[in-house]
Amino acid sequence: MTFKEDAALAAARLDQYLADSGAGRERVIDQKPMAGIIETLNLEACIREGGLGGETLDRFVRDYLAHTTRLHHPGFFAHQVAPPAPLGSIGSLIDGATNNAMAIYEMGPAAAAIEHFMVNTILARIGWAPMPDQADRRLKTDHGGGVLTHGGSLANLTALLAARHALDPRVRNQGNPGDLTLMVPASSHYSVAKAAGIMGMGQAGLVHLPVDDLGRVVPDRLEQAWTEAVDKGKRVVAVVANACSTATGLYDPVDEMADFCREKGLWFHVDGAHGGCALFTPRHRDCLKGIGRADSMILDAHKMLRTPTVCAAVLVREARHLDMVFEETASYLFHEKVQPGFDFIQQTVECTKAGLGLRFFLSMAELGEKGLAAYIDATFDLALEAHGLISGQPDFTCACPPQSNILCFRFRGRDSNSRDKDQLAIRDRLIQEGKFYISSAEVGGKRWLRIVVLSPHSTLAHVEALLDSIRDIAGRL
Ligand SMILES: *Cc1c(COP(=O)(O)O)cnc(C)c1O
Repeated sequence: MTFKEDAALAAARLDQYLADSGAGRERVIDQKPMAGIIETLNLEACIREGGLGGETLDRFVRDYLAHTTRLHHPGFFAHQVAPPAPLGSIGSLIDGATNNAMAIYEMGPAAAAIEHFMVNTILARIGWAPMPDQADRRLKTDHGGGVLTHGGSLANLTALLAARHALDPRVRNQGNPGDLTLMVPASSHYSVAKAAGIMGMGQAGLVHLPVDDLGRVVPDRLEQAWTEAVDKGKRVVAVVANACSTATGLYDPVDEMADFCREKGLWFHVDGAHGGCALFTPRHRDCLKGIGRADSMILDAHKMLRTPTVCAAVLVREARHLDMVFEETASYLFHEKVQPGFDFIQQTVECTKAGLGLRFFLSMAELGEKGLAAYIDATFDLALEAHGLISGQPDFTCACPPQSNILCFRFRGRDSNSRDKDQLAIRDRLIQEGKFYISSAEVGGKRWLRIVVLSPHSTLAHVEALLDSIRDIAGRL
């Protein structure tokens, strides 16, 4: 079998898969025990014998797809990974076939050029000056910068490293001193705490920002929190905003936080892994008002920009901060050379790096700016309509009106006697039934059911059917 024939077989299977998933013809989730999957897929014999291809490949793809979680399914309301635009997945295929590890320009000029272009596309939406395309960009200082990373966690780490370098460049040689701190909302994504750990600041290096009942930063109380930290002898590496928060989908007040950080000369980092998508829709851009006055931001293209996993972006207002973080030596990589492009390698934790820009670009090129905005708007709209529907039911309650496509709600039961563990039991049963796949989160010390609207095939009728399923399950608990 040739590559072309094998690819055609896989493409035919995937085509059917996307159609079935979108129409909700199969279960959205079907978790079988791992050992059974390993056996069904005949993994051991396949690697022992080799030569998988043609008919055997076709069977393998069929069985593999039968054990996947279907992100395009209208009942998919779970975690924040969007069903990718089909053209984006062709980007992953091309990237896999060419394997251009583009962190140095000579290993992937097309991939590097596309990454450069996509980073500039985001910078333009933030309102930061684009990176120049010459290799001599280090001579210039007044432009933004950025890089694509394998995920938002790595992107947060990268941005926070840049922030620390900007505050105290001696850390690179001398290690982390004990007085550095990050000021973050307690509801920030756990990758921020993880980054603090990796950076040697530990959990003791985190100061929680003052928040309201729903975990949103209260700008009026920032001054006091900052004064307390300074009085304890702390130096603040960065103030972090959720835009939006993972659990509730609510945005911190970026504009006011930017004012505060400007006034105090503090680095302001905006975690827009999920909600940074608002940059791409005029209708919701206001959620990020003031973003231009931040110092850094991250954005996951694989969350709301319909790009296949993984593809995240780190953006900085002043490229020089990112340029200087990782000034390492490696004689086989870093030396004088003549080249017409740009090495991203000095900007990342990674060395070998996939051509992530291609899947991102092709996803956007399929949808177009208007198509992408329409997708984001539709998911935000449906969350709002779902809120209207659910809060009108006597046996349900919502945590708050949604600001994005994330909505937390609870089954209360007739007598409002539903407990936290009932919510988790409901979710478990829903998943076992396989018609709907939702997640769950803790907000304000309580356990909530959580939907994230992601599939373009989901409608309000699906949300209504979800409520019926929940009632049905609750009646049998
Ligand atoms: C998902 C998420 C992250 C982590 O991104 P990954 O791509 O999963 O590593 C960071 N911050 C927020 C707010 C998120 O929602």
